[in-house]
Amino acid sequence: MDLSFTPEQEAFRRQVRAWVKANLPKRDPEAGSLESGDPRRIRMLKAWQRKLYDAGYVAMGWPREYGGQGADVVQQTIVNEELIVARAPGLVGGMGIQMVGPTLIQHGTEEQRRRFLPKILTAEEIWCQGYSEPGSGSDLASLRTRAELVGDEFIINGQKVWTSNAHFADWMFCLVRTDPEAPKHRGISYVLIDMKTPGIAVRPLIQMTGEPGFNEVFFDDVRIPRENLVGELNQGWLVANATLQHERNMLGSTTTTQMMMNGLLRLARTCQRNGRAAADDPVVRQQLADLIIRVETMKYHAYRQLTDAIRKRPPGIGASVNKLVSTELNHDIAAMALDVMGPYGSLGRGAADAHDRGDWPIHFMFSLGLIIGGGTSQIQKNIISERGLGMPR
Ligand SMILES: Cc1cc2nc3c(=O)[nH]c(=O)nc-3n(C[C@H](O)[C@H](O)[C@H](O)COP(=O)(O)OP(=O)(O)OC[C@H]3O[C@@H](n4cnc5c(N)ncnc54)[C@H](O)[C@@H]3O)c2cc1C
Repeated sequence: MDLSFTPEQEAFRRQVRAWVKANLPKRDPEAGSLESGDPRRIRMLKAWQRKLYDAGYVAMGWPREYGGQGADVVQQTIVNEELIVARAPGLVGGMGIQMVGPTLIQHGTEEQRRRFLPKILTAEEIWCQGYSEPGSGSDLASLRTRAELVGDEFIINGQKVWTSNAHFADWMFCLVRTDPEAPKHRGISYVLIDMKTPGIAVRPLIQMTGEPGFNEVFFDDVRIPRENLVGELNQGWLVANATLQHERNMLGSTTTTQMMMNGLLRLARTCQRNGRAAADDPVVRQQLADLIIRVETMKYHAYRQLTDAIRKRPPGIGASVNKLVSTELNHDIAAMALDVMGPYGSLGRGAADAHDRGDWPIHFMFSLGLIIGGGTSQIQKNIISERGLGMPR
C-alpha cells in the first residue's frame, strides 16, 4: 500500500494552495453566524462557493455534463485538505453537494439532474432536508406527512422538525407518505419542494448554542408538480437511504476533525497551566496524545474509504463508522479545548478576552447535536453490528 501522493498530485496541491492563499475571503467580524441566517454571512458564503466553483474546485468528481470536472476523488481530497489548512469557510451548499446532488445523480431523471445540479454547485439554490418529524426520528419510516397525488400534482399536509437551514433554504428534499395502507417502508416517496410554495410555514427552534440553526416546517395543502418525485412512487425508502449514506460520510469528514485538532494544539501551546504552556503539562500531553491517535486512526480509515471510492465501491458500512467515530471525537476535542482554556472556556462569542473569537463553547454544544443528527450514535452502532458484523437484531 502506497500512501504517498504522485508528483502530479503534489503539483496540483501547490497550485490549489496558491489559489486558496490568493482568494481566501476576509472575515467580516460584524456578520452573524450561518446558523443565525444572517444575510451578510450567507451572501459572503455564496460568493465564496461561486469563486471556488469557477476555479473548478467544487464537487470535482461530478460528471462534466452536470457542471462537475469528472476529476478523481484524490484531487477533491487534496482541495479539501488545503482548504482546511488555510482555515477557509465551509460550503454553504453542503447539503446540496453532499446529499441531494449525489442522490439525483443516482436516482434522478435526466431533467432533474439538468435542472438542479448546476445551481447546487454554484450555491444559487440552497437545500434543506425534510426527513424528521415529531415522533419519527430514529424510527424514520414511521413518518406521517401525507402527499396525495391528485392529477399531476401532489398535495402535501403535515409537519417536519429539526430542519437545519430551512430558514434560508430555497429547496427541500423531503420524505412523504404516499400510500398510508402499505407497510411503513413501502408507502414513502421522495419529493423535491420549492420552499416558496404557498402553504409552507417555517418556525425557528432555538438550539442550546442560542441560535436558530433548525426549524419546524408545516405543510398546509402544499401543491407540488408530480415531476418533483425522485425515483418511483412509494419507493422513496431506497432513495432516502442513498441520501443517508452520503450524509453519514459528510458528517464523518476527517478534514473537520483535523481542523479542530489543529485548533486544540494551537490552544494548548498558547494557554498557560501552572505557569507554563498547557502543552508542556504531562497530563495534558497524555490527553492530547490520546486524541491525536484517534484522529490518525480515523484518517487511515478515511484512506481506506478513499481507496473504495477510487475503485468505485459504494461507501457501505464505513459511512456509519465515520459518522460514529468522528462526531464523538469532535465532541471530545471540543471538551478538551474548554478544559485547556480553564475559566476562559466559558467566554462565548463577542466576549473581549475569549480565545478563537469564542468559537469553542459553540463547537462543544454543536458537536453534542451532531452526535444525534443524521442518526444517533446508538443507531450507528446498531447498523454496524447488524449489517457490518452480522450480529443478531
Ligand atoms: C443538530 C441537528 C441537526 C439536525 N438536522 C436535521 C435536518 O436537517 N433534517 C432532518 O430531517 N432531521 C434533522 N435532525 C434530526 C435528527 O435526524 C434526529 O434528531 C435523529 O434522527 C434522532 O431522532 P430523535 O431526535 O427523534 O430521537 P429518538 O429517535 O426519539 O431517540 C431518542 C434516544 O433513543 C435512542 N434510540 C432510539 N431508537 C433506538 C434503537 N432502536 N436502539 C438504540 N437506541 C435507540 C436514540 O439513540 C436516542 O438516544 C437534526 C438533529 C440535530 C441534533
